[in-house]
Amino acid sequence: MLRELKNSYPDIKILENADMSELCSFKAGGRAEYLVIPKSTEELRATLSIVSRNSLPHIMLGNGTNTLFRDGLYKGAVIKLDGDAFGYAEVISGTAPCREPENCNPAVVKEAEQKSEAVEIRAGAAMLLSSLAKLSFSFGAEGLEGLSGIPGSVGGAVFMNAGAYESETKNIVKSVHAVSPDGSEERDFTNDEMDFRYRHSKLMESGYIVTSVIFSLKKGNPIEIKKRFDDFTRRRKEKQPLDFPSAGSTFKRPAGYFAGKLIQDAGLKGLSIGGAQVSTLHSGFIINKGGATATDILRLITLVQNTVFDVFGVKLEPEVRII
Ligand code: FAD
Repeated sequence: MLRELKNSYPDIKILENADMSELCSFKAGGRAEYLVIPKSTEELRATLSIVSRNSLPHIMLGNGTNTLFRDGLYKGAVIKLDGDAFGYAEVISGTAPCREPENCNPAVVKEAEQKSEAVEIRAGAAMLLSSLAKLSFSFGAEGLEGLSGIPGSVGGAVFMNAGAYESETKNIVKSVHAVSPDGSEERDFTNDEMDFRYRHSKLMESGYIVTSVIFSLKKGNPIEIKKRFDDFTRRRKEKQPLDFPSAGSTFKRPAGYFAGKLIQDAGLKGLSIGGAQVSTLHSGFIINKGGATATDILRLITLVQNTVFDVFGVKLEPEVRII
């Protein structure tokens, strides 16, 4: 069936029996029957049209930092956007005070700060949030500092409404350009239409695929922005087990609690199953200490959920998308 796609788009990359552990930050998990890598919206729409028409299960993959494929074979197509058509960022309105924080003319910065004009940046869905953040700082645009350490793509951040340090993706999204699940149409969603909530967006129900996003940022002092960025980076390095593969916080924050604290207070810090371990640095993270299978990780997730429920009566829900 994907031969039909190849016939129309001979350059489209389609891999068979692709190893998902290589594409997911947990460095664990099984294989996918097909990995399709569209490099243009046209290729994406054709892919979606063919998989939908043939009822082939499919799933989008961004940077794989919140996704775990079960061991074994995913019988369907994993679709991953790639190339310049999805990996760009451009300032589309608002002039930025300067590009090099160290060499700013203070008078120009002051004048820019006094105007409340927003800086709008359009970014492709495959652009990494961290690269976008660095770019926005160099343009003297603030609003991405808190999110700068999230290792996902723009598409994944919007889908998840990713957030950190009291910032959420929803706070800076102006609109989202997306393709319908069957590839038949493209449309823009306003921020309101995205139904952003804690780790939720409308995409979770509608199945629309993000191709680009317009972010609305504020002008700011590049030196101050850089300081905040450095502070958030330092805090992450101190508090998170970044030396081991993981998918970040394994569980969503239950109302009124912190998942990591509940897990630690339940005595689960450092608990291991196979190569999977509850991090000793941050109990909210399950890490791959080496050679973990997806099954190890999933068994540990279940054990943590059951124990926390038995001890505190709180249900932990995975934030990680399990495929
Ligand atoms: P993926 O894992 O590839 O996909 C996640 C979901 O988004 C999937 O369901 C996928 O189908 C969907 N998706 C991806 N691209 C598209 C698209 N173009 N259109 C439609 N749907 C799409 N998260 C936070 O919120 N805050 C944090 O502070 C944070 N810290 C982290 C730290 C570490 C070390 C790690 C490994 C992860 C962390 N995460 C954090 C989790 C993760 O980075 C975020 O959830 C991120 O937004 C996922 O983006 P991604 O591109 O990797 O998505």
